[in-house]
Amino acid sequence: MKDAVIIGAGFAGAVTARVLAEHGKSVLLIEKRNHIGGNAYDWLDDNGVMRHEYGPHIFHTNSSRAVEFLSRFTGWYDYEHRVLGYVQGRLVPIPFNFRSIDMLFEKEKAEHLKSVLTEAYGEDHKVPILELRKNKDPEIRELAEYIFEHVFKYYTMKQWGYTAEEIDPAVTGRVPVITGYEDRYFQDSFQKMPDQGYTAMFEKMLDHENIEIALNTEAMDRLSVDPEKKEVWLDGSLYQGIVVYTGLVDQLLNYRCGDLPYRSLEFTVRTEKGRFQPVTTVNYPTRADMHPYTRITEYKNMQKNPPKEKTTIAVEYPFAYDRNGKNGRVPYYPVFTDESREKYQAYVDLLAGIDNVYLLGRLAQYRYYNMDAITEAALAFCDQLLENR
Ligand code: FAD
Ligand code: UDP
Repeated sequence: MKDAVIIGAGFAGAVTARVLAEHGKSVLLIEKRNHIGGNAYDWLDDNGVMRHEYGPHIFHTNSSRAVEFLSRFTGWYDYEHRVLGYVQGRLVPIPFNFRSIDMLFEKEKAEHLKSVLTEAYGEDHKVPILELRKNKDPEIRELAEYIFEHVFKYYTMKQWGYTAEEIDPAVTGRVPVITGYEDRYFQDSFQKMPDQGYTAMFEKMLDHENIEIALNTEAMDRLSVDPEKKEVWLDGSLYQGIVVYTGLVDQLLNYRCGDLPYRSLEFTVRTEKGRFQPVTTVNYPTRADMHPYTRITEYKNMQKNPPKEKTTIAVEYPFAYDRNGKNGRVPYYPVFTDESREKYQAYVDLLAGIDNVYLLGRLAQYRYYNMDAITEAALAFCDQLLENR
């Protein structure tokens, strides 16, 4: 019997597996897909393009602990992500910043708006759009309404199926308005990509004699949890080792409190000649009847040695997650509402008292983790676990 069973080979599961293995624990890592890496999985396609199967993944962080840990398994190359948004027939920088203002307003008006913003917030300040809309100055509010209408309103409706006011403000706050010329999508101090890709990094991370990987394996076929008896069963026997679960918590408990809502995506991938667009990602914050998708990603624009002749692009269409549906069968984003948070808590409460089951990761903790944040969280989780066991 292994010391630990980990469900899911994404960042949460793989980082945990590695740390436990290095501390002498034998680990069984169960993954239902046919590959490791979770949603960060990438692979070289026939066009020579490093394709990110589950959407573009850009690594950026201020966490030296996450960088230090991951750097044991990969080298890095520099890449700073820049995004353009289709606004009134033009491609303007997102996050919305002074260059976007210069491109969308005539010179005098643009100069005036920039000075009003600088006076109100200072230089290079990041202002969440919902905060900007509440500014007391009617001129700033008018600009905020313009930005809201052309950048946030329809994108958010398409992405979430809710209005920007209905969802957690932290979601739109991820892409603030910037009172300066900073036009990078992320402002973190470390912005680099793994030099051989994410999958290669995971391969090295999981290459340890104490780790056994079972791919193509649905964990629920081998594992079950009984919240009444407070028991965990693995392969037909009572299991008292460590269980780190990084999948859907409603699935773990047989959906007994109902399905948790997630947002899903479908990617339409196609090959084009040469170069398709000026940056890696172009956002389409337009109405759904104009562009039914949210963004188009051209993967080779973030590649170290991109091919010249051909390119691979992916068009991103949001859907509600539906585990039995035709579209939207992959749960990508937790959908935060009061109701969903309560339901999630009901599941967590059911697990209370089963002291060998731990929930970790974007799905299991129902959190909007970036890759660096889940790496840090997994390392912190291991610190605690190893202290207590
Ligand atoms: P996951 O990567 O989802 O891994 C969970 C794994 O568990 C999966 O492989 C799944 O198959 C497996 N699993 C689940 N249930 C079971 C089961 N019952 N049995 C067996 N296996 C199971 N972060 C960034 O930092 N930068 C970005 O640019 C970025 N872009 C993103 C773009 C998109 C479209 C999305 C959806 C996310 C993005 N993220 C980005 C976030 C990033 O994907 C997450 O931080 C990361 O994947 C979280 O890792 P995880 O291990 O928690 O979850
Ligand atoms: N957003 C928007 N318009 C944009 C970019 C982002 O409305 O052009 C909002 C939208 O609600 C989105 C959120 O900001 O879900 C966070 O954007 P981000 O690009 O971080 O989303 P992710 O990459 O996580 O899908």
